[in-house]
Amino acid sequence: MLIVMEHKAEPKDIDAVVAAIKAKGYLARPIPGGDRTAIGVLHNKGAVDSSFFLGLKGVKDVIPVTRPYKQVSREFHPEDTIVRVGDVPVGNGHLTIMAGPCAIESEEQALTIAEHVRRAGAHIFRGGAFKPRTSPYSFQGLEEEGLKILVKVRETTEMPVVTEAMDNETFDMVEEYADMIQIGTRNMQNFSLLKRAGRAGKPILLKRGMAATIDEWLMAAEYIFAGGNSEVILCERGIRTFVHHSRNTLDLSAVPVVRKESHLPVIVDPSHAAGRRDQVIPLSRAAVAVSAHGLMVEVHHAPEQAMSDGAQSLYPEQFERLCQQVRSIFDTFQAEENGL
Ligand code: PEP
Ligand code: MN
Repeated sequence: MLIVMEHKAEPKDIDAVVAAIKAKGYLARPIPGGDRTAIGVLHNKGAVDSSFFLGLKGVKDVIPVTRPYKQVSREFHPEDTIVRVGDVPVGNGHLTIMAGPCAIESEEQALTIAEHVRRAGAHIFRGGAFKPRTSPYSFQGLEEEGLKILVKVRETTEMPVVTEAMDNETFDMVEEYADMIQIGTRNMQNFSLLKRAGRAGKPILLKRGMAATIDEWLMAAEYIFAGGNSEVILCERGIRTFVHHSRNTLDLSAVPVVRKESHLPVIVDPSHAAGRRDQVIPLSRAAVAVSAHGLMVEVHHAPEQAMSDGAQSLYPEQFERLCQQVRSIFDTFQAEENGL
C-alpha cells in the first residue's frame, strides 16, 4: 500500500504517519518525490485498513499496490529512477552505452578495447573477471587480476566499470573494485546472492534469467530493494526459445512492459541474445527504438582470438557505426517526446 501525502504536508506530519505505520507492525518506506512525499507500507499480511490512514493529518490518498513486486513497481514509485554508475546516469532521458570484451584477458587487451569503445561513444566499460562458462574446461576469467585490470581501465579512460559477481564468496572482492556489479542470467534467482546484492553499496545490473518471466525478474529486483539497495538497472539479454538462428531470442517487448510496470532503468544486451555478430547492430537499433535506456555490447579488437564469445563480439569499427546509428534513433525519439 502507498500513502500519498499532501503537497503541503509538513515533515512532522510525515513522521507521524511513519510512526502510525510502525505502531501497526508494518514497515514504512518514505519515498520523497519532486512534488510530494509518498510512504510505502510493507510487510503487511493481507489488506490494510486504509480509512485509518486517510484520517491522519496531511494524508491525501491511500493507494493499494496490486503487484507482487512492491518497491520496484511504478504504482509504488511513479517517477522514473535514474541510477548513477560512477558519475554516469542511466535512466529516462539518457542513452547509456556499456561496451567491452566478454572477458578481461590481459591488460593490453582491455586497454586497447577500452580506448576503441570510449572513442566511439561508450560511457561504461564492461568485462568479465569471473566468467560463468558452460564447460568447466573453458576459460574461467582472470579473477582478481582481471578486477585490477578493470581499475586500470577506469584510471586510464575515466569510464566506470561493470563486471559480474558470480557467488557470495567473491562478492566482497568484486564490490571493492567495480563501479557496478552484474548479476548474470544464470544467477537471477540465486536468492542468497540477491540478498548480498541488497547489502551492496554499489549499483546492481540485474540480467533477466534466460527462462524467467517479467514478474520473476521484477521479484528478483525486489529482493535487492528489500535488502536496502535501490540502485538497480535491469538488463534484457534474450530468453531461451526453440530457434536456432540465434543463441537466444531477444524479447524486445519486455522493454515497454518493464517501463510501464517499473520505475527502474532497463537496458538491452543484444550480444548475448544474438550469439552472432551480424545480428547485433540491427537488434541494438531495435532496442533503442523500443525505448531501452541503454545497451550493453561485447566488442573485441581481435574477436577471432577472443577467449570467450568471439562470434558475437563486434569489431571496433562496427561498434562505432552502432553508436552513431543508435544515437540518431534516440535523438529522433527524444525530440518527439519533447514535442519538438
Ligand atoms: C556477460 O554479460 O558476461 C554474461 C555472461 O551474460 P549473461 O549472464 O547474460 O549470459
Ligand atoms: Mn559474453
